[in-house]
Amino acid sequence: MTYLLDALQARIGEFVSLRRDIHRHPELAFEEHRTAALVADKLEGWGYEVTRGLGGTGVVGRLRRGTGPRRLGLRADMDALPIEERSGAAWASAHPGRMHACGHDGHTAMLLAAARHLADSGRFDGTLQLIFQPAEEGGGGALHMMADGLFERFPCDAVFAMHNMPGIAQGHLVLREGAAMASSDYAMITIEGTGGHGAMPQHAADPVVAAASLVMALQTVVSRNVDPLQAAVVTVGALQAGQANNVIPASARLELSVRALDREVRALLERRIRALAVAQAEGFGCRAQIDWRPGYAVLVNTPAETAFAREVALELLGPERVTPQGPPLTGSEDFAFMLERVPGSYLLIGNGQGADDGSPASAACMVHHPGYDFNDANLPVGAAYWVRLAERFLVAA
Ligand SMILES: [Zn+2]
Ligand SMILES: [Zn+2]
Repeated sequence: MTYLLDALQARIGEFVSLRRDIHRHPELAFEEHRTAALVADKLEGWGYEVTRGLGGTGVVGRLRRGTGPRRLGLRADMDALPIEERSGAAWASAHPGRMHACGHDGHTAMLLAAARHLADSGRFDGTLQLIFQPAEEGGGGALHMMADGLFERFPCDAVFAMHNMPGIAQGHLVLREGAAMASSDYAMITIEGTGGHGAMPQHAADPVVAAASLVMALQTVVSRNVDPLQAAVVTVGALQAGQANNVIPASARLELSVRALDREVRALLERRIRALAVAQAEGFGCRAQIDWRPGYAVLVNTPAETAFAREVALELLGPERVTPQGPPLTGSEDFAFMLERVPGSYLLIGNGQGADDGSPASAACMVHHPGYDFNDANLPVGAAYWVRLAERFLVAA
């Protein structure tokens, strides 16, 4: 498969420039107008049938070849983050307070490089559908595209997506069958008590004491309710109450991040958190109100499609550059929603380890950090992977 890597490498200059251009002009969730237009124009120029504005700023490029019935979806995300860039790169963000700190500029450029190669010289028979989605970073752009008819208008037999990961050797691919990324739910718990004078607590119902007790009680959900062999996270990231040392406030507020790698564990977490909030508040003469906002689902890679994605990785890179079954992550990803509808797999591509593998320090810097940058050395690797996966998936029956 070196010929394919070489072929993409030989023409990668255009896509390095393109990646850096997108990097320089980062756009936040659902504001990806410039990026989406750039993607759509390129695809049209290469002969794709392009649909713009799906789910807001989403773009789908479709290319049919031959008569094969198979339909493949490949997905990249396009949005940036509200972070002030400090990567020091010459192509750093031109917009204060916004940056491509998760490498979605790179994901977009990798898929575009594959798109051009497949249009020029791809050997496939069937329907190739390239999905460029908005708002992966918390906005649920995948759901918006799906609500706008993504899979009705562009039915797929399987969908695949790839995310870069700093700290893993550059160009190394990591696959995983089963649950790979956690669900991520948000909860706000308001504890209503009775305020009063700090010197006369007997006339009040103190929500601060109830909130403090609840924070401690919540620690038992993971340690006492969840199966020790399962993973779960309950983080109280915000706790607010009161303004003065001698006043008992009327209410306290907790904000939680709740994560799980299993749908049943996720449901258990919600049940236990609700029950504890109500009971703890009542125990102190207060009342709890719970605002539960479900976020991203557990991302589950299906067995057959993951086995296929793994075979393609091994064929392209060989066993020394492929981890066939990596560990799950407690981060979240809205590609999980696409995988609830269509079988498929989500894989990681190593962004580099800094001095250890000769990659830039910015590539080893964790995503969402102001010093991070996508590793351009991955553009030909990721693109070659998409090309090979499409060629092997889209074969006449
Ligand atoms: Zn991110
Ligand atoms: Zn990301």
